Amino acid sequence: MPGFALLLLLLLGAGRRGLLASPETHQQDVEVVQKYLENYYNLKNKVRQVEKRRDNAPVVEKLKQMQEFFGLKVTGKPDAETLKVMSQPRCGVPDVAQFVLTQGNPRWEKTDLTYRIENYTPDLSKADVDHAIEKAFQLWSNVSPLTFTKVFEGQADIMISFARGDHRDNSPFDGSGGNLAHAFQPGPGIGGDAHFDEDERWTNDFRDYNLYRVAAHELGHSLGLSHSTDIGALMYPNYIYSGDVQLAQDDIDGIQAIYGPSKTSNQPVGPQTPKVCDSKLTFDAITTIRGELMFFRDRFYMRANSFYPEVELNFISVFWPSLPNGLEAAYEFADRDEVRFFKGSKFWAVQGQDVLRGYPKDIYSSFGFPRTVRNIDAAVSDEDTGKTYFFVANKYWRYDEYKRSMDKGYPKMIAHDFPGIGNKVDAVFKKDEFFYFFHGTRQYKFDPKTKRILTLLKANSWFNCRKN
Ligand SMILES: [Zn+2]
Ligand SMILES: [Zn+2]
Repeated sequence: MPGFALLLLLLLGAGRRGLLASPETHQQDVEVVQKYLENYYNLKNKVRQVEKRRDNAPVVEKLKQMQEFFGLKVTGKPDAETLKVMSQPRCGVPDVAQFVLTQGNPRWEKTDLTYRIENYTPDLSKADVDHAIEKAFQLWSNVSPLTFTKVFEGQADIMISFARGDHRDNSPFDGSGGNLAHAFQPGPGIGGDAHFDEDERWTNDFRDYNLYRVAAHELGHSLGLSHSTDIGALMYPNYIYSGDVQLAQDDIDGIQAIYGPSKTSNQPVGPQTPKVCDSKLTFDAITTIRGELMFFRDRFYMRANSFYPEVELNFISVFWPSLPNGLEAAYEFADRDEVRFFKGSKFWAVQGQDVLRGYPKDIYSSFGFPRTVRNIDAAVSDEDTGKTYFFVANKYWRYDEYKRSMDKGYPKMIAHDFPGIGNKVDAVFKKDEFFYFFHGTRQYKFDPKTKRILTLLKANSWFNCRKN
């Protein structure tokens, strides 16, 4: 899975080291930036000005637009983080409109649409392709009044094909990686049609690139949607495969804004992407990891990071593909450079981005919990003492990492030993000498020595949110 491995590498590592170090690399970067902005931000290709010191205003402007779109720090400079995002595989449709077939909001004037699969990729069986496309259409018909009927000959509203390189629609593909597919907004002729780059390897699993995932996105364009800045939405321009393909609430809102609600009596809902600066934000789990803080919520992690003005938000699966969503507790045992994640009665150990072999394990044989404990709410380890605290409902347990056994006399009552934090904990981490407990939208900075709350904070206080 070269593409996916590359993506991970880019997401996890390359950004920190100076990509701009050598003059040679720099020249490459200039090309990358220029091409990217031409392809996706409507930079006129006569404006070859990135390298010139003066009058590169159009490039800087477009670069700022791109950084704004992806939630990056808006510098107007091709910094490492910007180059990282530019190198990710993505949809070929521009983020800023370039080819507009119809003015205004393009939409189909009927709700019963036809589609036809004109040719097949050799990467998958015909049945797999049929199935992927059918499922992709179903995602959209499930949440809208639209219906899709497959036809086998003649002109359908949405013509689907695989093509490589220049395929005579003024939007050539680019070989493997990069631009994966594109689709045209509703309209006659080529309008609504979706093209998939035959130079990609199409799959029906996690390897690059999952056809169902890409088709679900492209058909959104075929129906009139444009790109979303919501990283949890299928209409986000970059390829992210998180294991399951589902419409986010943002996608549902988008399609319903064009075609109205679904005809079903219960309106479908989709997962919401956490809004990091929403004062109502709550967390499933939080841990330190190699000096940084990582917050978890549903399918997402959030990480304070100087490259992002607020916080870096992405799918947990991008970091650790084999971890489940909806983690319930996490703690770092720095002595072994391990972070342990809990969900239900199972836990996983990771070192950096590697999930260690032999996991998940169960909490009963590994920590000595009784079977009555079904899941852990929160966990934190104190590296000075080697003691790990597990919070379960209104009680907590203390585990000795060095003796590898639960300390005697536990569980004890949370309210008794951590007065003031309430009797339920969602998440906790330790930083410097203090515990930070989270419950709902509240956060308590707690001094374990004096057993006192020092400060009451908003749960998202670690993110660089502008105070309103
Ligand atoms: Zn797209
Ligand atoms: Zn095309």
